[in-house]
Parts: sequence; C-alpha cells; structure tokens
Amino acid sequence: MGKQEVNCSFCGRKKSEVNMLIAGISGHICDHCIEQADEIVKQEFEHTSKNELNQNLVLQKPVEIKKHLDEYVIGQEEAKRVLSVAVYNHYKRLLHAPAMKDDLEIEKANLVFVGKTGTGKTLMARTIAKLLQVPFAIADATVLTEAGYVGEDVESILSRLLQSADYDVKKAEKGIVFIDELDKIARKSDNPSITRDVSGEGVQQGLLKLLEGAIINVPPQGGRKHPEQKMIQVDTRNILFLSGGAFDGIEKIIGRRINTSPIGFSILHPEDEIDKENLLQYIAPQDLKTFGLIPELIGRFPVLAYLEPLSKKALRNIITEPKNALIKQYVKLFELDNMKLSFDSKALDFIVEKALEYSLGARGLRSIIEAILNDAMFELPSKADVNSLRVTEAYARKHFDKSKLSKLKVAS
Ligand code: ADP
Repeated sequence: MGKQEVNCSFCGRKKSEVNMLIAGISGHICDHCIEQADEIVKQEFEHTSKNELNQNLVLQKPVEIKKHLDEYVIGQEEAKRVLSVAVYNHYKRLLHAPAMKDDLEIEKANLVFVGKTGTGKTLMARTIAKLLQVPFAIADATVLTEAGYVGEDVESILSRLLQSADYDVKKAEKGIVFIDELDKIARKSDNPSITRDVSGEGVQQGLLKLLEGAIINVPPQGGRKHPEQKMIQVDTRNILFLSGGAFDGIEKIIGRRINTSPIGFSILHPEDEIDKENLLQYIAPQDLKTFGLIPELIGRFPVLAYLEPLSKKALRNIITEPKNALIKQYVKLFELDNMKLSFDSKALDFIVEKALEYSLGARGLRSIIEAILNDAMFELPSKADVNSLRVTEAYARKHFDKSKLSKLKVAS
C-alpha cells in the first residue's frame, strides 16, 4: 500500500491542492485556512476595539466639556464654548449614527481657531483629545505641499493620526486632527502680506479631499508617497478636523468689511460700539476668503472661533492656575530632589512683564522661567545642605539678566 497523501485537517484539501500545508501535533493546516482564520481573528478584534472606543466616548454635555477645558485653558471663554458645542455635536452624531434610520445625515462641524500665536489654540485641541481619549495628531500646514513639490503630502497628516492610534485604523477614524498654521496656505494673490507661495491653493485642494470625508490612501510612515509603498485606507468621514492660524493682518480685512458693508455692523446695532482694539471678535467666513482661503475649504470648516490676545492678568494666571501650570511643574521637579521651590508674587509679575516685553506671549513663559531657574537646577542637586529655593523678584531679575534670553532684541 502506497503512502497516503496528507490533507488539511480543517478543510480536507489534499497537499497537492494547496500551496502550503503546515504540520501541527496531530494535524495539518493549509494556507487557505490560515488566511481565513486570520480574517476571523481580525474581525473579532475590530469588534472589541470598536466597543471599547464607544465606551470611552460616553458623551459629556457641553457644559461638562467646557468645565474640563477650564481646568487647563485660561480665559478664551467664547472659544471654549464654541469648541465644547462642536465636539459634543460631533461625537453625538458619531455615536448615534447607526441608530438614525431617517437618512438625515448630520454634517460634521470642523472648526477653525483664529488667534495670535501662543493664545491656546493647540492647547485646546490637545485638551479635548485627551478628555475624549481619542487619537490626536498635530500637523503643520506649512510643511504640506502639492504633490510633486518638496515637502509632505497632505495624506501624511493621517499617517500621524494612525501612529497615534497605534495603527488601529478604526480608532484613528474617530480621532481628532489639529492643522496648525492654516493661514500660511492662503492664496498669495489675494493677500499681499503672505510672502511665501508654495502653491497654497494646491494644498488647500488637497486638504479639501481629507475634509470632505473620503477613503484616503495613507502612507503608513508619512512623508512622501512612493509607488512601492503599501498604503493603508482611512475613512475620514468621522475624523474631527480642528485648525488654527494667526491670520496676521485679518483685522484690517474685518475692519474694511465692517466699515464698507452697506448694512454695516454699526448700522444694524447702533447701540453697540465696535471694539476697535479687538476686531478679531467680529470675524466671519468671508474674511477668510478675502485672506486667501478657497470658499470650498471655508465651507468645510463651518465653525469659526476667535481667541483673544492674552492680557497681563491672563498670563499671570497661566503660570499658576491650570492643572499643569508651569509653576506647579517646576515645584514638582524640585520636589523630586527633595527641595521646596517657591515664588514671591513680585517674581511672578516679573516673569509676566518679560513675556509681554519680548512679545513672546504664553509661549515665552516657559523659556523665561527656565532661564531664571537654570543655575539653581544645575547646582542645587549636588548641594546636600540646601533644601529650598525662594525666588524673589531680585533673584528672578538677576538670573534672567544673566541669561541668553535677555540678550534678545526687545520687540518694538
Ligand atoms: P497656539 O495658539 O499658538 O496654538 P499654544 O496652544 O501652543 O498656542 O500655546 C503655547 C503654550 O502656551 C501652551 O502650551 C500653554 O502652556 C500656554 N498657553 C497659551 N494659551 C493659554 C491659555 N489660554 N491658557 C493656558 N495656557 C496657555
């Protein structure tokens, strides 16, 4: 009797009928069955990860969302309210989508923050993503270029989101993307103040594709696409896009519109004085168009929020109040070396004044504190006899003046 041909213990196919047959302890499995089993396992995982995500996304009400933002973001009341509502509506739409049978599709409310640099645009987006425990990615619009130019393809934005979701595509598809410096891809012709022209309009068209909600082929590692690279398909329909920009010079555009509009603001509401110091609060979508964004893109960002310039009082609060306020962070750092760090109120005022003087806004606060504390952070860990540091105004001034930072030119 000849040797009997082995077959797959799962589907029964003979060895000669399959590409490969792998032997186990008491049976065999063919390549077809391996593939099928892999598919089943994947589907099962996908199902569980979807449920986990939905549990995390227990919908918080706008008031609760704003309360959470309040713990981290100082001031910016208007923007926080607008963002809380946008996020609430977005995830409500997402969680209830399967239950809505009446074909009424609620459209996504992507949002643009307009405000000077360092006023908290990125911080707000980051804080929201953390609250919701969804994947979050920040992309800088200035590095994006139209296909064929040096730079990154717009799809690379989604590569970052995938990375932040550990390549769990379903999770990434419910994430938040923050596109920074949206103003830098404005069309040059409409806005003489923009000096750079990397085919802004081409990049805007590229972004439009992502924002419209489509299946996008994403290069897993980002950067530029190349033909032999394996792509991951990502559906952008439920990704929330937030974006921000300083839109330098947009106040002039707003001012012109308010003054020249036949039904100008002042005529509509004669009792309301226009606050000429802060025209940003009157921003409207048409101002973004005049600035150089294409109408289609503006249409995909239906929610517009403005951020106020940070006042002295706001800056003072920023260093001490938020949950992860800078001063709290340094106190903790010293505590880890068993040292007590404290600041006199005047020293804090000094830090704020320097930030304003150098026009660094909130972004400069950290560098200023770092400059003041650098000597102490270098020397004290080796001094066993010192266990506290009190930063007085004189101490702050002395160490700041010594630092490289103080040599910077004061902004005029
Ligand atoms: P941008 O508006 O340029 O995106 P960021 O959000 O990146 O500014 O702010 C830079 C840093 O300044 C933040 O990490 C944060 O520490 C601080 N900051 C800015 N604005 C605020 C604010 N309104 N409340 C608290 N911290 C702020």
